[in-house]
Amino acid sequence: MLENKTAVVTGGTRGIGRAIVLKLSQMGANVVFNYRSNDAMAQELVELIQATGKKALAVKGDVKDFNDAAELIALTVKTFGSIDILVNNAGITKDSLILRMTEEDFDDVINTNLKGTFNCIKHAAKPMLKAKKGRIINMASVIGLIGNPGQANYAASKAGIIGLTKAVAKEFATRGITVNAIAPGFIESDMTDKLSDDQKSAILKNIPAGSLGSAEDVASLVGYLSTDEAKYITGQVINVDGGMVV
Ligand code: NAP
Repeated sequence: MLENKTAVVTGGTRGIGRAIVLKLSQMGANVVFNYRSNDAMAQELVELIQATGKKALAVKGDVKDFNDAAELIALTVKTFGSIDILVNNAGITKDSLILRMTEEDFDDVINTNLKGTFNCIKHAAKPMLKAKKGRIINMASVIGLIGNPGQANYAASKAGIIGLTKAVAKEFATRGITVNAIAPGFIESDMTDKLSDDQKSAILKNIPAGSLGSAEDVASLVGYLSTDEAKYITGQVINVDGGMVV
């Protein structure tokens, strides 16, 4: 379904990003994924994909660095000739109540989650506009829709991603490029492993489906939004949250 297409996934070594990398590769795409620190995990993922006969490239870099984002997109185009799909998935949390939140914690989360998304869109836009086609999928969160105590920085970054998504969707709508956001609820990953059992059981009470989601639940939607079949879906925020926010 995605044969002869090239996808870039930021934050691809772990959790949701890794599931997205594997999904897009299984669907036939060449996949370039970025990561910040864990070289061994990145290498293991490249080898896993190459063993299936598909192409993958890992590019180390920090999405909040404008030049690293430029390098990621330039290397993709140089290696595979195009960028057809951009998944802005890299994200971090640095939680604390607003009175205790440091300026550094606020800036780091905004710069990684929101500015990082802007950086990659900015550099991917030119080749996509030239090709008159593309798919941009940004990882937001239900927290960007409803807020959460202790996550002012994270909620602001994810709400910002939603606004960014809608604005760019309108700018690119006539150019064959769709731009959508996904808002996961609580998904099993390193990010949610940090929660205590008490926090988890409190969260489960608010999820009608009665369980946390999996990274593959999110990756499936990324896969669909990446296809030609999804060409008339743009500017949307789609929740993958077991009915948590309806
Ligand atoms: P995760 O397990 O913590 O993995 C985060 C990934 O992002 C890692 O590959 C990490 O690479 C990379 N990364 C972090 N900062 C980066 C940076 N500055 N530059 C490049 N890569 C960076 O996270 P996750 O739970 O899978 O979450 C993925 C996305 O979904 C995030 O945007 C998150 O906000 C969103 N989300 C998650 C949930 C959830 O319940 N898990 C819910 C809603 C939304 P390194 O390992 O090299 O640091």
